[in-house]
Amino acid sequence: MSTQDKMNVPIARTSLTEAEIQSVLAPLRSGWLVQGPKVREFEEKWSAFTGAKHSIAVTSCTTALHLSLAAQGFGSGDEAIVPAFTWIATANVIEHLGGTVVFCDIDLETFNLDVTQLETKITPRTKAILPVHLFGLAADMGSISQVAQRHGLCVIEDAACGFGSRYHGKHVGTLGDTGCFSFHPRKAITTGEGGMITTNNAVLAEKLRRLRDHGAVISDLQRHLGARPYLLADHPDAGYNQRMTDIQAALGSAQMDRATDIVAERQRLAARYDEAFASLPWLRTPAHIEGLEHGYQSYPCLFQPEAINPESISRINQARNAWMDQLQQVGISTRPATHAVHMLTFYREKYALKLEDFPNAWVANDCSISLPLFHGMSEAEQNYVIQQVLESQR
Ligand SMILES: *Cc1c(COP(=O)(O)O)cnc(C)c1O
Repeated sequence: MSTQDKMNVPIARTSLTEAEIQSVLAPLRSGWLVQGPKVREFEEKWSAFTGAKHSIAVTSCTTALHLSLAAQGFGSGDEAIVPAFTWIATANVIEHLGGTVVFCDIDLETFNLDVTQLETKITPRTKAILPVHLFGLAADMGSISQVAQRHGLCVIEDAACGFGSRYHGKHVGTLGDTGCFSFHPRKAITTGEGGMITTNNAVLAEKLRRLRDHGAVISDLQRHLGARPYLLADHPDAGYNQRMTDIQAALGSAQMDRATDIVAERQRLAARYDEAFASLPWLRTPAHIEGLEHGYQSYPCLFQPEAINPESISRINQARNAWMDQLQQVGISTRPATHAVHMLTFYREKYALKLEDFPNAWVANDCSISLPLFHGMSEAEQNYVIQQVLESQR
């Protein structure tokens, strides 16, 4: 390939149809801007797609996780278990509520919680487990639910990347007490910022609806549609303001009309990469696990030009970074799949953690690479990424 054929392929690109872009005008024209009819419509479509009994729209996945913990009465002195390799927000919400973060290492094959270590993390103070369905692959929810039941713990699924991810036919977010989704632009459905909580528990759903709206017993929409809209609601809780706007919900709701196509397109793109890279010994593509349907929020690989161990890891890390530089020079954006939270300054210092405390999270941090994958990616763009990866000498 000659240099004039260079393309620019981002790690992700927002893909909205003209109808989806136009959809935000309806709430602007109607004047109902916050947690109104469009929010209700988006929640209904979300429940229909995921099979969840209740969906509660909020301002982000981070606030969804925060609200889920708060609704369970999680607070000072309580411990929650999170995988050491995840986006920092999964741990931050525990800190925000005055709790203690207990990290658990991951399984390198799936990048998800290593359930064989889970029970060793439980103490009399443990209150919750926050499994993460990282990059769109479901965590081992069967084992996690068993451990949770045995010890009376609540399970809050971080399904930020979980759109279209299924565990033995069930959509993620419907397997624990609550599921938390993100609509950040890096995720498959986007509202700019935004999040959704799913639950099959009616009592919890009511509590979450109250807590997102300053603790009010009924929402503004219910009040306006009710018999005496001029009277204010009571507030049994000191709640939060985590309401989604109707402008965001209109955008999310419009995208839900092609939800199935979005998931299918991501899976088709991933399958093309899988096939193209199957013979590369130095690049391990995402795992295929019996009974799990991957949603491919991203395409996380493990870069392994030689056996990974504590002696080789820094050499491999440097080689990975050099490869990322090389791809960036030909216009292809890549990223480490995500970060190991125990290696980030706040957690490392507060909990006096060492790299080797969570060896697989450390490996994933230093040796993972995500390649561009987004719905709306053209065949030419993907061909270019495939060709450049195959031509890399590793
Ligand atoms: C994106 C992400 C979050 C945070 O989502 P926001 O909507 O940006 O708050 C949390 N956890 C994981 C695993 C994520 O990927």
